[in-house]
Amino acid sequence: MEKGKIQTVLGPINPDELGLTLCHEHLSMKFDVAFVPPTNPKYKAYEEAELTLENIGWIRQNPLSSKVNINLNDAESAMLYDVHEYKKCGGCTMVENSTIGLNRDMDFVIRVARETGVNVIAGTGYYVADSLPSSLISRSEEDLVKEMASDLTKGVNGSDVKCGVIGEIGCTWPLHG
Ligand SMILES: [Zn+2]
Repeated sequence: MEKGKIQTVLGPINPDELGLTLCHEHLSMKFDVAFVPPTNPKYKAYEEAELTLENIGWIRQNPLSSKVNINLNDAESAMLYDVHEYKKCGGCTMVENSTIGLNRDMDFVIRVARETGVNVIAGTGYYVADSLPSSLISRSEEDLVKEMASDLTKGVNGSDVKCGVIGEIGCTWPLHG
C-alpha cells in the first residue's frame, strides 16, 4: 500500500479523487448462509422462484426465504446498469465488502471498475464461520492474518490486484473459536 493513497482494484488514487463514496456495497455475492426456509409449506415453491408480481409481496415480507433475493448474481443486466446509474448521478467510489464466505468475485469487481469508471475498493477478510469451508476454519489465526496482509500489500490469489480495506468481517455470538 502506498502511504497517503487509497488502494482501488485498478491501482492507488489520491484521497481527493474519492468523491461521493458508498462505503458498504455488494456487487456480486452469495448469501446462502442467511437463507431461512419458509415456515409455511404452502410457500415452499417460492424458495427457488424468480421474482414475480405473484410472489413479490411474500418475498418482501420474507426476504431471507428467497434464494433469488439473497444472491446478487445478475451481473450483466442489473449490477452494471446500477453502477452506471450511480456514476451518472455523481457517484465516484464504492467499497465492495463481499469477502471470503460471501463469494468474493474479484474478476467481476475489476470489470465493474473498468466499464463504469467508478473507483472500486475491495475488502479482504472472512464472513461468519458457517459461510466458510472447514479447510479454512482449520487454518491458524496467524495464517489468516498473513493472507489478509498479502491481499492488501501484494495482491489477491497471486495477482497484483490489491484490496484496500479489511471488511466485512462476519461475527456471530458466541464467537466461533
Ligand atoms: Zn455487507
